[in-house]
Amino acid sequence: MDNNLKMFCKDTYNHFAENQIHVILIIFIVFVVTLNSIFVQILTRYLKQNPMNALIVYSGGMDSSTLLYHYQKDIHLAVSFHYGAKHNDREIAYAKQNCKELGIRHIVINLGFMNVYFKSDLLQSGGGIPEGHYEAENMKKTVVPFRNGIMLSVAVGLAESNDLDTVLIGNHAGDHTIYPDCRKSFIDAFDVAAREGTDKSIRVVSPYCDISKREIALIGKGLNMDFLKTYSCYKGGEKHCGKCGTCVERKEALDGFDRTEYEK
Ligand SMILES: [Zn+2]
Repeated sequence: MDNNLKMFCKDTYNHFAENQIHVILIIFIVFVVTLNSIFVQILTRYLKQNPMNALIVYSGGMDSSTLLYHYQKDIHLAVSFHYGAKHNDREIAYAKQNCKELGIRHIVINLGFMNVYFKSDLLQSGGGIPEGHYEAENMKKTVVPFRNGIMLSVAVGLAESNDLDTVLIGNHAGDHTIYPDCRKSFIDAFDVAAREGTDKSIRVVSPYCDISKREIALIGKGLNMDFLKTYSCYKGGEKHCGKCGTCVERKEALDGFDRTEYEK
Protein backbone atom coordinates (compact mmCIF):
# COMPACT_ATOMS: atom_id res chain seq x y z
CA MET A 1 0.00 0.00 0.00
CA ASP A 2 1.54 3.31 -0.97
CA ASN A 3 1.81 6.22 1.46
CA ASN A 4 -1.06 8.21 -0.02
CA LEU A 5 -3.45 5.31 0.36
CA LYS A 6 -2.29 4.75 3.95
CA MET A 7 -2.92 8.43 4.76
CA PHE A 8 -6.36 8.24 3.14
CA CYS A 9 -7.29 5.17 5.20
CA LYS A 10 -6.02 6.79 8.40
CA ASP A 11 -7.97 10.02 7.74
CA THR A 12 -11.13 8.08 6.92
CA TYR A 13 -10.77 6.06 10.15
CA ASN A 14 -10.18 9.19 12.26
CA HIS A 15 -13.16 10.91 10.66
CA PHE A 16 -15.32 7.85 11.35
CA ALA A 17 -14.12 7.64 14.99
CA GLU A 18 -14.79 11.34 15.52
CA ASN A 19 -18.32 11.00 14.10
CA GLN A 20 -18.91 7.96 16.26
CA ILE A 21 -18.04 9.91 19.40
CA HIS A 22 -20.46 12.64 18.33
CA VAL A 23 -23.22 10.10 17.73
CA ILE A 24 -22.61 8.46 21.12
CA LEU A 25 -22.65 11.88 22.78
CA ILE A 26 -25.94 12.83 21.10
CA ILE A 27 -27.51 9.47 22.05
CA PHE A 28 -26.33 10.02 25.65
CA ILE A 29 -27.81 13.55 25.80
CA VAL A 30 -31.14 12.34 24.32
CA PHE A 31 -31.15 9.50 26.87
CA VAL A 32 -30.56 11.87 29.83
CA VAL A 33 -33.19 14.38 28.61
CA THR A 34 -35.75 11.58 28.08
CA LEU A 35 -34.98 10.08 31.49
CA ASN A 36 -35.34 13.47 33.14
CA SER A 37 -38.66 14.10 31.38
CA ILE A 38 -39.98 10.66 32.42
CA PHE A 39 -38.87 11.33 36.01
CA VAL A 40 -40.65 14.72 36.07
CA GLN A 41 -43.82 13.13 34.63
CA ILE A 42 -43.78 10.34 37.23
CA LEU A 43 -43.17 12.85 40.04
CA THR A 44 -45.97 15.17 38.83
CA ARG A 45 -48.37 12.22 38.52
CA TYR A 46 -47.37 10.99 41.99
CA LEU A 47 -47.95 14.42 43.54
CA LYS A 48 -51.32 14.77 41.77
CA GLN A 49 -52.40 11.33 42.89
CA ASN A 50 -51.13 11.93 46.41
CA PRO A 51 -52.24 15.37 47.54
CA MET A 52 -51.86 16.00 51.24
CA ASN A 53 -54.84 15.45 53.49
CA ALA A 54 -53.68 17.97 55.97
CA LEU A 55 -54.46 19.53 59.30
CA ILE A 56 -52.90 22.93 59.93
CA VAL A 57 -51.72 24.31 63.25
CA TYR A 58 -53.20 27.75 62.74
CA SER A 59 -52.63 30.70 65.08
CA GLY A 60 -54.13 33.49 62.94
CA GLY A 61 -50.75 35.25 62.63
CA MET A 62 -49.35 36.19 59.23
CA ASP A 63 -47.14 33.10 58.75
CA SER A 64 -49.75 30.44 59.42
CA SER A 65 -52.38 32.51 57.56
CA THR A 66 -50.14 32.50 54.48
CA LEU A 67 -49.69 28.75 54.92
CA LEU A 68 -53.49 28.35 55.13
CA TYR A 69 -54.04 30.23 51.86
CA HIS A 70 -51.03 28.61 50.18
CA TYR A 71 -52.15 25.03 50.89
CA GLN A 72 -55.91 25.59 51.15
CA LYS A 73 -56.69 22.77 48.68
CA ASP A 74 -54.87 20.24 50.88
CA ILE A 75 -56.20 21.45 54.24
CA HIS A 76 -59.28 19.79 55.72
CA LEU A 77 -59.00 20.93 59.32
CA ALA A 78 -57.44 23.95 61.05
CA VAL A 79 -56.73 23.94 64.76
CA SER A 80 -55.95 26.98 66.90
CA PHE A 81 -54.65 26.59 70.44
CA HIS A 82 -55.65 28.99 73.21
CA TYR A 83 -52.82 28.64 75.70
CA GLY A 84 -53.38 31.88 77.60
CA ALA A 85 -51.15 34.18 75.55
CA LYS A 86 -51.97 37.88 75.74
CA HIS A 87 -52.72 37.97 72.00
CA ASN A 88 -54.57 34.62 71.61
CA ASP A 89 -58.08 36.12 71.51
CA ARG A 90 -57.29 38.56 68.69
CA GLU A 91 -55.28 36.04 66.66
CA ILE A 92 -57.92 33.35 66.96
CA ALA A 93 -60.70 35.73 65.87
CA TYR A 94 -58.85 36.20 62.56
CA ALA A 95 -58.14 32.46 62.32
CA LYS A 96 -61.86 31.78 62.62
CA GLN A 97 -62.72 34.44 60.01
CA ASN A 98 -60.14 33.24 57.44
CA CYS A 99 -61.20 29.60 57.78
CA LYS A 100 -64.84 30.58 57.35
CA GLU A 101 -64.01 32.48 54.15
CA LEU A 102 -62.09 29.50 52.73
CA GLY A 103 -64.67 26.95 53.89
CA ILE A 104 -62.18 25.10 56.07
CA ARG A 105 -63.35 23.51 59.32
CA HIS A 106 -61.80 25.30 62.28
CA ILE A 107 -61.58 24.22 65.90
CA VAL A 108 -60.10 25.87 68.98
CA ILE A 109 -58.48 23.77 71.68
CA ASN A 110 -57.96 25.20 75.13
CA LEU A 111 -54.53 24.64 76.66
CA GLY A 112 -55.23 26.93 79.62
CA PHE A 113 -52.97 24.88 81.92
CA MET A 114 -49.96 26.45 80.17
CA ASN A 115 -51.00 29.91 81.40
CA VAL A 116 -51.23 28.53 84.95
CA TYR A 117 -48.09 26.39 85.18
CA PHE A 118 -45.69 27.69 82.51
CA LYS A 119 -43.33 30.64 82.84
CA SER A 120 -43.32 33.13 79.96
CA ASP A 121 -44.02 36.84 79.54
CA LEU A 122 -46.08 35.99 76.47
CA LEU A 123 -48.72 34.53 78.79
CA GLN A 124 -51.38 36.50 80.63
CA SER A 125 -49.79 35.23 83.87
CA GLY A 126 -46.35 36.60 82.85
CA GLY A 127 -44.76 40.07 82.99
CA GLY A 128 -44.78 42.86 80.41
CA ILE A 129 -43.90 42.20 76.77
CA PRO A 130 -40.36 43.39 76.00
CA GLU A 131 -39.81 45.82 73.14
CA GLY A 132 -37.04 45.57 70.54
CA HIS A 133 -35.94 43.30 67.74
CA TYR A 134 -37.43 39.83 67.44
CA GLU A 135 -34.07 38.07 67.61
CA ALA A 136 -32.73 40.14 70.54
CA GLU A 137 -31.72 38.42 73.79
CA ASN A 138 -34.51 40.07 75.86
CA MET A 139 -37.11 38.42 73.60
CA LYS A 140 -36.30 35.07 75.22
CA LYS A 141 -38.75 36.12 77.95
CA THR A 142 -41.54 35.52 75.41
CA VAL A 143 -40.58 31.90 74.75
CA VAL A 144 -43.28 29.50 75.95
CA PRO A 145 -41.40 26.29 76.85
CA PHE A 146 -41.98 23.49 74.35
CA ARG A 147 -45.08 25.19 72.93
CA ASN A 148 -44.68 23.69 69.46
CA GLY A 149 -43.95 20.27 70.95
CA ILE A 150 -47.20 20.36 72.91
CA MET A 151 -49.31 21.75 70.05
CA LEU A 152 -47.84 19.31 67.52
CA SER A 153 -48.53 16.37 69.84
CA VAL A 154 -52.20 17.30 70.02
CA ALA A 155 -52.29 18.05 66.27
CA VAL A 156 -50.81 14.66 65.32
CA GLY A 157 -53.40 12.86 67.49
CA LEU A 158 -56.15 14.98 65.91
CA ALA A 159 -54.88 14.21 62.41
CA GLU A 160 -55.01 10.48 63.05
CA SER A 161 -58.48 10.78 64.60
CA ASN A 162 -59.72 12.62 61.49
CA ASP A 163 -58.15 10.28 58.90
CA LEU A 164 -55.66 12.94 57.81
CA ASP A 165 -52.08 12.14 56.90
CA THR A 166 -50.19 15.42 57.37
CA VAL A 167 -49.78 18.14 59.97
CA LEU A 168 -48.71 21.52 58.56
CA ILE A 169 -46.93 24.08 60.73
CA GLY A 170 -45.80 27.58 59.76
CA ASN A 171 -42.51 28.11 61.62
CA HIS A 172 -39.80 29.93 59.66
CA ALA A 173 -36.05 30.58 59.64
CA GLY A 174 -36.34 33.81 61.69
CA ASP A 175 -37.78 31.79 64.61
CA HIS A 176 -34.67 29.66 64.94
CA THR A 177 -32.56 32.05 67.03
CA ILE A 178 -34.59 32.05 70.23
CA TYR A 179 -37.22 29.33 69.78
CA PRO A 180 -35.59 25.87 69.98
CA ASP A 181 -38.82 24.09 69.03
CA CYS A 182 -39.02 26.05 65.75
CA ARG A 183 -35.67 24.76 64.45
CA LYS A 184 -35.39 22.32 61.58
CA SER A 185 -33.67 19.72 63.78
CA PHE A 186 -36.69 19.76 66.12
CA ILE A 187 -39.30 19.59 63.34
CA ASP A 188 -37.39 16.73 61.66
CA ALA A 189 -37.16 14.85 64.97
CA PHE A 190 -40.88 15.41 65.61
CA ASP A 191 -41.71 14.20 62.10
CA VAL A 192 -39.90 10.94 62.85
CA ALA A 193 -41.68 10.64 66.22
CA ALA A 194 -45.10 11.28 64.59
CA ARG A 195 -44.51 8.68 61.86
CA GLU A 196 -43.30 6.13 64.39
CA GLY A 197 -46.03 6.89 66.90
CA THR A 198 -49.11 6.73 64.67
CA ASP A 199 -50.84 3.90 62.88
CA LYS A 200 -51.08 5.91 59.65
CA SER A 201 -47.54 7.33 59.81
CA ILE A 202 -48.64 10.95 60.12
CA ARG A 203 -46.13 13.41 58.60
CA VAL A 204 -45.19 16.77 60.09
CA VAL A 205 -44.46 19.21 57.25
CA SER A 206 -43.00 22.67 57.70
CA PRO A 207 -42.86 24.29 54.25
CA TYR A 208 -41.43 27.62 55.47
CA CYS A 209 -38.81 26.21 57.86
CA ASP A 210 -35.87 27.45 55.78
CA ILE A 211 -37.24 30.76 54.53
CA SER A 212 -37.54 34.21 56.11
CA LYS A 213 -40.69 36.02 57.23
CA ARG A 214 -40.10 38.48 54.38
CA GLU A 215 -40.22 35.59 51.89
CA ILE A 216 -43.44 34.35 53.52
CA ALA A 217 -44.92 37.85 53.19
CA LEU A 218 -44.01 37.86 49.49
CA ILE A 219 -45.72 34.46 49.03
CA GLY A 220 -48.83 35.91 50.70
CA LYS A 221 -48.66 38.99 48.50
CA GLY A 222 -48.45 36.73 45.46
CA LEU A 223 -51.61 34.99 46.69
CA ASN A 224 -53.36 38.38 47.04
CA MET A 225 -53.76 37.84 50.75
CA ASP A 226 -55.14 40.57 52.94
CA PHE A 227 -52.67 40.82 55.81
CA LEU A 228 -55.11 43.07 57.68
CA LYS A 229 -56.93 39.82 58.44
CA THR A 230 -53.95 38.59 60.46
CA TYR A 231 -52.72 39.62 63.89
CA SER A 232 -49.16 39.67 65.28
CA CYS A 233 -48.71 41.92 68.33
CA TYR A 234 -47.63 40.05 71.47
CA LYS A 235 -49.26 42.73 73.65
CA GLY A 236 -52.70 41.81 72.35
CA GLY A 237 -54.02 45.38 72.07
CA GLU A 238 -56.69 46.56 69.67
CA LYS A 239 -53.99 48.06 67.43
CA HIS A 240 -50.55 46.60 66.78
CA CYS A 241 -48.10 48.36 69.16
CA GLY A 242 -45.37 48.55 66.50
CA LYS A 243 -42.62 48.16 69.12
CA CYS A 244 -42.66 44.58 70.42
CA GLY A 245 -40.47 41.96 68.72
CA THR A 246 -43.19 40.48 66.58
CA CYS A 247 -44.53 43.91 65.50
CA VAL A 248 -41.00 44.94 64.43
CA GLU A 249 -40.68 41.68 62.53
CA ARG A 250 -44.09 42.20 60.89
CA LYS A 251 -43.09 45.70 59.76
CA GLU A 252 -39.84 44.41 58.23
CA ALA A 253 -41.60 41.53 56.47
CA LEU A 254 -44.41 43.64 55.01
CA ASP A 255 -42.18 46.60 54.11
CA GLY A 256 -43.53 48.32 51.01
CA PHE A 257 -47.06 46.91 51.26
CA ASP A 258 -47.87 47.15 54.98
CA ARG A 259 -51.36 48.56 55.63
CA THR A 260 -51.30 47.70 59.36
CA GLU A 261 -52.31 50.55 61.61
CA TYR A 262 -49.70 50.74 64.38
CA GLU A 263 -50.08 52.65 67.67
CA LYS A 264 -48.42 56.05 67.59
ZN1 LIG B 1 -46.61 44.72 69.23
